[in-house]
Amino acid sequence: MSRLAVRRSHRAVVAEALARGDWRWLARAGWRTLRSRLGLPAGPLFATLAVTYRCNYRCSFCDLPDRARGDPPLEQLIARVDRIATDGALAVGITGGEPLLHPQLFAVIAAARARGLLVHLNSNGSRLTTAAVLPLLAAGLHSINLSLDGATAATHDGLRRAPGSFAQISATVAALRAARNGTTPRIGLVMAITPTNFGEVAAFARLAVAWGVDAAGFLPHHEFVETRSRLDAASAALLAAELTAAAEAGDVLDNSPAYRNAIAPFLAGRPMPVECSAASTHVAIAPDGRRYACVPLMTLERGGVTFDQPGPPPPPTAREREEVCRQCWWNCHRELDLSLQTVVAPR
Ligand code: SF4
Ligand code: SF4
Repeated sequence: MSRLAVRRSHRAVVAEALARGDWRWLARAGWRTLRSRLGLPAGPLFATLAVTYRCNYRCSFCDLPDRARGDPPLEQLIARVDRIATDGALAVGITGGEPLLHPQLFAVIAAARARGLLVHLNSNGSRLTTAAVLPLLAAGLHSINLSLDGATAATHDGLRRAPGSFAQISATVAALRAARNGTTPRIGLVMAITPTNFGEVAAFARLAVAWGVDAAGFLPHHEFVETRSRLDAASAALLAAELTAAAEAGDVLDNSPAYRNAIAPFLAGRPMPVECSAASTHVAIAPDGRRYACVPLMTLERGGVTFDQPGPPPPPTAREREEVCRQCWWNCHRELDLSLQTVVAPR
């Protein structure tokens, strides 16, 4: 496996553990990774915890806010963090909805850190005023990704249906960079590529360099089951060229080359490989406490189990593998597969 085959943020996590001499974390990571590569049960390497489906945005491609039924209280979220830690995960990614709308988010982050988990946050960037950045960092956040779906305000704000959002994210990046301790938390921008914004991919990477973030990542926009966002062959070729140019914009691209190279074929309609380790390397917990094998199945509400049921969530059924997995190129899961070398090349 070449060094560049691994996602930038995965390399950074390992490099940081080495730098702080966290041999215990490294030993756990090595043991679990080895077992995963051997196809042995390893428990979750990482977990996703959705703390709310509420959101102050109504993005054109998302229905999660419509499913919000009230937020889980802090004690339930702590119990979920406890289980994630007890099951041996190395890290937890906190998501939503917009997770910063949960009134006890900082306490959840602090609880996860106290249990030895690395804590990552996904946010739309709208709530991180300068005043909110300091308690967020004090809670022990390790890394944050901000969703930015274009290199211009017109494109991003249009897709997000949120005028001023692009400018807010720019201000948030500046506030985080000014307040953080060294390079913690790591700051990433993530662009979901759609038929609307694919022409801004290289400009997005250049913008990320100009803003001084630590990583700029891409994932294809997902709408599952017969409704995948499609690019025609000419557009897919343009996107491939944009992604190549993005990789040359500076040392900032988060995606591994293998993942990046499959984005255009994915959006052009080529089926992705069904092999995926998510069911054995991950758990995703929805706001209602149900547990799923991965984030896509969580957002589709398929195959979950209640919080109290013993054992891990079941892997995708044959029908889910056919209908969902073959139309999935979700970055958090598929990049890990590529790191673990468990995925065959796209057909
Ligand atoms: S910001 Fe995220 S959770 Fe909120 S509506 Fe948009 S995609 Fe959905
Ligand atoms: S391919 Fe996608 S939907 Fe299927 S298990 Fe993996 S992450 Fe989940």
